[in-house]
Amino acid sequence: MVIKPKVRGFICTNAHPVGCAVSVQEQVEYVKQQGELSNKPKNVLVIGCSTGYGLASRITSAFGAGAKTLGICFEKPPTERKTGTAGWYNTAAFHQQAEQAGLYAKTINGDAFSHPIKDQTIEMIKLDMGKIDLVIYSLASPRRTDPDTGEAYVSTLKPVGEPVVSKTFDTSKKIVHEISLESANQDEIDNTIKVMGGEDWELWIKRLSEAGVLAENCVTSSYTYIGKELTQPIYGHATIGKAKEDLDRASASLNKGYASIGLKAYVTSLKAVVTQASSAIPVMPLYISLMYQVMKDESCHEGVIEQIYGLFNTLLLEENPKLDDTKRLRMDGVETNDYIQGKIKAIWPSVTTENFDELGDYNGYNQDFLKLFGFAFDNVDYDQDVDQQVSW
Ligand code: NAD
Repeated sequence: MVIKPKVRGFICTNAHPVGCAVSVQEQVEYVKQQGELSNKPKNVLVIGCSTGYGLASRITSAFGAGAKTLGICFEKPPTERKTGTAGWYNTAAFHQQAEQAGLYAKTINGDAFSHPIKDQTIEMIKLDMGKIDLVIYSLASPRRTDPDTGEAYVSTLKPVGEPVVSKTFDTSKKIVHEISLESANQDEIDNTIKVMGGEDWELWIKRLSEAGVLAENCVTSSYTYIGKELTQPIYGHATIGKAKEDLDRASASLNKGYASIGLKAYVTSLKAVVTQASSAIPVMPLYISLMYQVMKDESCHEGVIEQIYGLFNTLLLEENPKLDDTKRLRMDGVETNDYIQGKIKAIWPSVTTENFDELGDYNGYNQDFLKLFGFAFDNVDYDQDVDQQVSW
């Protein structure tokens, strides 16, 4: 089938297997060029392994440390008439790369929030890996079913407290405009915490520990975004920010609860980048386009793989890494410093539909967005008939 992007609002409903393979290959090459990590995990579990920061974590573990990786994701396989999701193709490409390099890689595709997927994971670790020394928790999901009660929770992207009026960029209509966002009620806040907070991360660690598959001194990290004034109304001081605060509670509780096995649990704050998760958040496409422009002008722009390689090589696996006041690891220091934020804030009020291309890097944003789905790679012939039935 000939596959061209089908973009609907902030998502693309298809994906290109060859382009996704190129995307994975580029990340693998980047890690190989950087060289081996200074501290090397041996057996790594990545929950949310197929796209964005989780995929970069898996690639860094495998190609920066030669680690065995077990990944968990929730992706759709291709059918006769439809392509698979990007995460499906990324995973197939990762498996191929790992196999060529003689690296162990297995993936479980299913709902990470559920009991059966946790059971399968434990079984596979016992069978193939022994004990896990690094657990990366990189899920981004709009919904979660509580595995004990069966109740389904849906997250909301709304401010907390006062309603917010902000500038945004509508990626479908290609216009800069103002949006009004109603503030969330307590149910919406609680439900978002239930979906994106620390409860499931804690459940994973509990189950892994009870099964005896966590190594002594195992490290675990979940990922967060903190941001500054421009994004706080819709992120930090919003429902998603409340859920992310719950990760801080969970990491403290994990550190205390599993001190006897020397578990180190961190929340890592990462830079804003274009991923399937971030493109769904109002205001982020505008903010990221302006931030990309400023950081590219200042030659300090980074994408997912640069962030994660830096995290693994300089902070996460260190004996005593530098923590912030809330005991988080910080990889977002350059994005959030006053100089970079000052430059973005200076442009923000004057951005309009007409000058957006000139003041911001929407082209860069859009290219990165298309690349998430395997499109916009110069070295892929998108007129070519390709087999969408790729598997691993
Ligand atoms: P993403 O959408 O690229 O990846 C989400 C992953 O979760 C995919 O592998 C998907 O298959 C998996 N997943 C979703 N629901 C699942 C389920 N029920 N069961 C199993 N797997 C499931 O997202 P991302 O942007 O890489 O986000 C990962 C983490 O990084 C999130 O915690 C996010 O808040 C954080 N983060 C993102 C940014 C950013 O700008 N994108 C910045 C800082 C922190």
